[in-house]
Amino acid sequence: MMENGRLKVVNPATEEGIEEIETSSREDLDKAVKKARRGFEEWRGFAGLDRAEVFHELARNLRDHAEELAEIMTREGGKPFIENRDEVTWTAACFDYYAEIARDNVGYLPAPIETQQLALVIREPVGTVACIVPWNYPLLLAAWKVAPALAAGNAVILKPSEETPLATRRMVELIEDLPESLFQTVYGAGDVGEMLVRHPGIDMVAFTGSQETGRKVGAVAAERLIPANLELGGKDPFIICDDVDVEIAAQGAVWAACLNAGQVCTSSERFYVMREVADDFVEASRSFVESLHIGDPMNEKTDIGPMINAKGREKVEHHVGEALEKGAKVVAGGERWGDRGYFYKPTILTGVEPSMTVMRDETFGPVVPVVEVGSLEEAIEQANSVPYGLGANVYTQDFEKMLKCMREIRAGTVWINDPLTDNDAAPFGGQKGSGIGRELGREGLEAFQESKHVHIDPKVEKKEWWYPYGPGEEPGQRTL
Ligand code: NAD
Repeated sequence: MMENGRLKVVNPATEEGIEEIETSSREDLDKAVKKARRGFEEWRGFAGLDRAEVFHELARNLRDHAEELAEIMTREGGKPFIENRDEVTWTAACFDYYAEIARDNVGYLPAPIETQQLALVIREPVGTVACIVPWNYPLLLAAWKVAPALAAGNAVILKPSEETPLATRRMVELIEDLPESLFQTVYGAGDVGEMLVRHPGIDMVAFTGSQETGRKVGAVAAERLIPANLELGGKDPFIICDDVDVEIAAQGAVWAACLNAGQVCTSSERFYVMREVADDFVEASRSFVESLHIGDPMNEKTDIGPMINAKGREKVEHHVGEALEKGAKVVAGGERWGDRGYFYKPTILTGVEPSMTVMRDETFGPVVPVVEVGSLEEAIEQANSVPYGLGANVYTQDFEKMLKCMREIRAGTVWINDPLTDNDAAPFGGQKGSGIGRELGREGLEAFQESKHVHIDPKVEKKEWWYPYGPGEEPGQRTL
């Protein structure tokens, strides 16, 4: 949160301040952009293998400091320590992945126009990239941008969220072998983010955050004619067919809805359950939810920590409250937990309707709204009925149903029987209003590259298709 031009970092489990840090000024941005140009040139002098070694060293360093980084992330972001420790290892894995694939992605040779010629497509860096990220996975989401952007040869200026700058600041300290000017950070809220995107020294923006902010960032990028990679919010559907073990599907569903207190861009937020198993699903979900531990996120037994801030919790309360007013029923949760910290109990709702806000807008909290459906067709139709398309989950053992869902659900990722598992080697991003462009995989690297076509003819000779077009005419005799 911002106070007197400084960022006040608050522990969401206790509501106590942890630290205040300076926000970056326009002058700081100018300096960073100027330095980035130097870093960009310096980075050119690193051969592919040397760049890879720097990344592997960084990954090792992150793993060696996993507990320390996880503790900082837990205190500033409220995600359970155990999940944050995993996040550090995934962050390291992302650097290891891009260390190697960047060496294998410098371009390709298309067929030339004439046989003696050589056509080359060279992949070049875009320049200085602004990376702007949210608070829910501060290190991982930074790595998904920073690692491929640097691996592609760019300089990077990263702005972490105003809620969670501290783990990022520590990560930067752990980067020992990169030119200091190549990867820099600036701190602040949306105003600093906007200033960065508007800065004439920025050549590209890679943004992760809400749809609302993504629109603004995209508009500024369009005005400046710079590329914008936008990873935005979701409203992921979760379909449960009647051919699966309902106990397992219910546990997978609750986990996919409540992981990080429901504050994952790919949190499952709408549950479509075949009528035959709907009652059993609700009962299994209720008993699983009631077995979960909510509380201090530093405790390794804690399943559910606090939400990030009061505003986030109020949004959940608004969505649940409106659903109840319109006839939905609470099966579990539906209220705050504890007398301090921004906790909200995992909540199961039945009797929800497609028109309710909780079924249309991103809730970003631990809520499982359940809808009974009569067929897979109906479930898919409803799954596709919102303007988001980030991820989708399906539980079935029937291969034909898997294929049907794979083809017909409009989402950037479709997970079948294994919710929310990301893979560095596969692209991640949104269809429809959930974003533009992809991160991870080869696409995630190419997003930070420009293609240059080089056409070489080793012979200097006149081409037969040049002027003059008319045969046998003397120079100077042709009329226009
Ligand atoms: P947010 O949009 O409020 O902020 C994201 C970042 O943008 C922050 O660093 C913020 O300071 C900055 N920002 C705000 N206004 C800006 C502006 N005008 N110009 C430039 N930068 C600006 O989002 P949040 O609350 O931090 O994060 C939650 C949202 O992020 C959710 O909607 C979630 O779904 C989404 N998200 C998406 C993904 C994905 O990969 N698609 C991953 C995680 C989170």
